[in-house]
Amino acid sequence: MSYAATPVRTSSGVLIIAPLSGHLVPIEKVPDPVFAQKMVGDGISIDPISETLVAPCDGEVIQLHPSHHAVTIKTAEGLEVLMHIGLDTVTLRGKGFTPKVKEGDTVKTGDTLIEFDADYIALNARSLLTQLVITNGEKVANFAPRSGDVTGGKDVVLQLSLAGSETTTSAKSTTGKKVTSQAIVIPNPTGLHARPAAVLANLAKKYKSDLRLKFGEKLANVRSVVGLMGLSIDNGDTVYLVAEGEDAETAVAELTKEMQAGLGEEGSKPAPAPASVAQAEINTPAPRPRSENPNIILGVAASPGVAVGNTYRIQHQEISVAETGENANKERRKLENAIAQAKLEIEALRAKVHGQADAAKAAIFAAHQELLEDPEIEEMATAAIDEGKSAAFAWKQTYTYQAQQLAKLQNELLAARANDLRDVGGRVLRILTGATVEEISYPANTILIAEDLTPSDTATMDRSKVLGFCTVGGGATSHVSILARSMDIPAIAGAEPRILDLPNGTPVILDGSKGTMRLNPTPEEMERVKQLQIRLAAKRQTDLATAFEPATTIDGHRVEIVANIGNIEDAEKAVALGGEGVGLLRSEFVFMERDSAPNEDEQTEIYASIARVLGPDRPLIIRTLDVGGDKPLPYLSIPHEENPFLGERGVRIGFDRPEILRTQLRAILKASQAGKVKVMFPMIARLEEWRMAKGMLEEERQKLGVPPIEAGIMIEIPAAAVMADQFAKEADFFSVGTNDLTQYTLAMDRGHPKLAPYVDALNPGVLTLIGVAATAARHQGKWLGVCGGVASDPQAVPLLVGLGVSELSVSVPTIPSIKAQIRELKLSDCQKLAKFAIAQATAAEVRALSPLPEK
Ligand code: PEP
Ligand code: MG
Repeated sequence: MSYAATPVRTSSGVLIIAPLSGHLVPIEKVPDPVFAQKMVGDGISIDPISETLVAPCDGEVIQLHPSHHAVTIKTAEGLEVLMHIGLDTVTLRGKGFTPKVKEGDTVKTGDTLIEFDADYIALNARSLLTQLVITNGEKVANFAPRSGDVTGGKDVVLQLSLAGSETTTSAKSTTGKKVTSQAIVIPNPTGLHARPAAVLANLAKKYKSDLRLKFGEKLANVRSVVGLMGLSIDNGDTVYLVAEGEDAETAVAELTKEMQAGLGEEGSKPAPAPASVAQAEINTPAPRPRSENPNIILGVAASPGVAVGNTYRIQHQEISVAETGENANKERRKLENAIAQAKLEIEALRAKVHGQADAAKAAIFAAHQELLEDPEIEEMATAAIDEGKSAAFAWKQTYTYQAQQLAKLQNELLAARANDLRDVGGRVLRILTGATVEEISYPANTILIAEDLTPSDTATMDRSKVLGFCTVGGGATSHVSILARSMDIPAIAGAEPRILDLPNGTPVILDGSKGTMRLNPTPEEMERVKQLQIRLAAKRQTDLATAFEPATTIDGHRVEIVANIGNIEDAEKAVALGGEGVGLLRSEFVFMERDSAPNEDEQTEIYASIARVLGPDRPLIIRTLDVGGDKPLPYLSIPHEENPFLGERGVRIGFDRPEILRTQLRAILKASQAGKVKVMFPMIARLEEWRMAKGMLEEERQKLGVPPIEAGIMIEIPAAAVMADQFAKEADFFSVGTNDLTQYTLAMDRGHPKLAPYVDALNPGVLTLIGVAATAARHQGKWLGVCGGVASDPQAVPLLVGLGVSELSVSVPTIPSIKAQIRELKLSDCQKLAKFAIAQATAAEVRALSPLPEK
């Protein structure tokens, strides 16, 4: 069926003409949930038979994606019509597309927008289906998509009634129902702070209705974490949900239930409403401590440990920006691109800390990503751009204002999030302005003094010079403090503001355990602290001095201590610290931070050079490419998946694209000539997968005519642990990936900010699986190691040894201390401990059984 060309605008609305010739497909049928679920907007899809995308309406080109696969036109009515050629075509990076317009051009219906090579796209992308959607659907009251075959530039594909017209009003009143919830009393012990706010904002995303939270006279967008936090809602406060839209009733009912249950936060219990005086007192932040002694600064104990040094104050550099911008569309795109770039940077930080299995740090950066998706911030910045401000000015004004609002709040937890907002805000602003981060060269023995530090400042601190820090802002729960603890750097937060007046170079003793800083200490005080530090340093020295000795328990049981590495530098450090080899080379690092996959020769050289660093006797276990899930690879297009952690990840990618896996296997086999190289496959769930991977290895080996190498599997999927006896008959070794094994055993996303405290590999369920796999390996005369983050956790070490783990692949800096710890253990004690541990009910009980070794 075909429709004759029609006027583009009618009294009832707007007609959108086919941008291509082809067959129309309902948008709901597009095999990509982003389009099918109308996350981008409502519209239609076309299976094209032509190769020229033409304008479906008159308007201005407001966006042309840098990869030239998508273009947006804004009509006179303000409709934004996005056309997206193919699915996952962004990964083609422009190849196969020739744009014929640029942003800012005015076009008439039928004008050529983009020419494309359909054959190339069909071969290299997931689908040629081309979507046309209205991204600002709130301007449309009714979509009437057509069906059948259409001719590009001629036939109508969509008939739209605009919101605001008569037809619209009646259409909206039937769908736009307004519902207000019953009174909801906030049960969360510290109110609606960042985490429950983020959970609520996330839950809200699945509804179509407009959702607001009402607190007194104030209203906030429920999808906005910042807006929610800005309401400063405390435990016991009464709020109302107000929803308007087709699913308003369901949204209100479901979200009310979630809020009453505390949005998954522990310790949430219904509080009396209105809040009693006593309650109000509890919720008022304790006044900041003030010292009577001019030489003692009081603050909050943020990160334990003592440091002696001299003060050095840092101030954040101010980035200046021009107030007015070019045209609003361009400025908006600039902001979008900068936010997208910032997200990538944060994703990289997050992936890095994931790799180190540091859940607390990963959760911090996950929360930062959430802030970048905050609709309230976006709305405010866009409004300023529309008034003629530059993207940088609008963004800076917005995040500074929002951070100030948060900082003013009575609730300490919420106020602390202002700092996170300044951190992500500053990141985007730097990208927007191209400003470089000023490198500070700290004097030796620095105790940093600052009004506030950001998580990024803290994560990138020069640890060789900075011994500790003291800030006026923040508290024990601020993200900076969490980071300081994970970096083992003594710190005080919430200190008296007079620290800012101290001249640089003032001698101080900072006690991060007590939350005090002693100014101009007496010689005796200095002496006492120095003695303590000497003891700690001596311990570090002994660990280092004995780093090259084997890790053998008192009763003569040898445990192999190897390293987790990502590159040759890590290998060098590992060897220098007494590492007995590499238990896990995450080969994805060889593939990341590049524009295209390394070829066989490049890979061979990288693996061989690492093998040479290790020498002939230290093993190098190379894990084949493990991307997908939380580890994207920009040039490897992985179709959008509903559940990426349960989708094409790890070895599954290698089966889908065998040329990638075979190339890597050839490179590993060739590099095996340079050292003691072994190969390991990630994400093995089924025996068939292992056999297939092993088969590919063997085929490539025979073609190359090289000797066989040992091949093992990662035990990181519960099925593999449970069936370990069968795998052990065929594999040469096992290495337990506790990061994933914990995630899949507990069915908890390893990077989920809210679940982070519970994703603990010492959960008895996870330990039981490790024990099962270790026993199966032993019965078949094979060995089992652990390469997940828990191998570097001193509390876990005796348990793992007791369960029968014979190799621990740990983070490079911890090699000497883990070796030293093992030398103090007795295998028989560890075995008893492990037995007790798997009989415990919770991870906390297991941790209580295995206290941290004394420093
Ligand atoms: C693991 O899952 O524990 C592991 C070592 O692999 P990765 O963290 O790289 O997924
Ligand atoms: Mg893993």
